Amino acid sequence: MIIVLKPGVAKDEIEFITEKIRLLGLIPHISTGEERTIIGVIGDENKLREAPLSAMAGVESVMPIVKPYKMASRDFTGKDTIIKIKDVQIGGNVLHFFAGPCTVEDEKSTMQIAEFLQQKHIRIMRGGAFKPRTSPYAFQGLGLEGLKILRRAADAYNLIIVTEVMAMRDIDDVVKYADIIQVGARNVQNFTLLKELGSVPRPVLLKRGLATKIEEWLMSAEYIMSEGNKEVILCERGIRTFETATDPSHGVGVRQYIPQMVYAAIASGSDGILLEVHPDPDAAMVDGAQTVDFHEFTVICDSAKKVAHAINKEIACL
Ligand code: PEP
Ligand code: MN
Repeated sequence: MIIVLKPGVAKDEIEFITEKIRLLGLIPHISTGEERTIIGVIGDENKLREAPLSAMAGVESVMPIVKPYKMASRDFTGKDTIIKIKDVQIGGNVLHFFAGPCTVEDEKSTMQIAEFLQQKHIRIMRGGAFKPRTSPYAFQGLGLEGLKILRRAADAYNLIIVTEVMAMRDIDDVVKYADIIQVGARNVQNFTLLKELGSVPRPVLLKRGLATKIEEWLMSAEYIMSEGNKEVILCERGIRTFETATDPSHGVGVRQYIPQMVYAAIASGSDGILLEVHPDPDAAMVDGAQTVDFHEFTVICDSAKKVAHAINKEIACL
């Protein structure tokens, strides 16, 4: 249920309404926009029907949220989500690259990439320490050691880190070393993991699953948000269809199409671009075919800036 308050509603009126909601055993979520304050209510909506909320001072209207996802719905807050991590803001007017290797390979290459990203004024570095691989015999990531390398690189080059967690048992380590936790495409409907991430003090970057509908993806976001963590970053990474001409991993999976995908994503209003960058993609341990080198990344940044500026957005890259 959404309670839309009148413009200029008084503070004590808001307190009175929220207290009433709590007394009914429901949870109010206040969202203050530039023009309006909205209270989203989660819980058994039948209880709200018993209360004369629409007649209360300061209330303009009371509406049901018809979508199955509530907190992940734009109706619930009435505004864009902005997430602040240290001095970096995700959402709003500045677009960020989330750039780095598919997997952390060793200290030297990770430092080299981090140094390059800092030179390019990039603030968010990605890199996998726990890798979801199709084959159990393929490289599975450096695990805890990979997390420590990422942290050292981030601290040395003033970056924030996003890395994937695949299992509940690794959550504490990932929270300790990373700034944003990635849930990969394969875990998007691992509801137990999602619930657990609902109570960690880190934003979650939630990738779309290999075959998830938008509504299912948003319901996965709801799993995290309904447990208290409202900082969910949705990452559209493409879905798998009957088409085999391009591997859809991370959008296209083919290096030559990446620039166009980046520009299209910026033009369509994305707040961030997740991109795999490596000093020598052909020698990368994982996902080399969809990874760009430093020169290609620089070329992408140059055009990305023009696209961003054309839609009045800033972009964090030199
Ligand atoms: C990745 O980001 O390297 C990754 C494994 O992504 P996805 O879950 O989208 O395949
Ligand atoms: Mn990858």
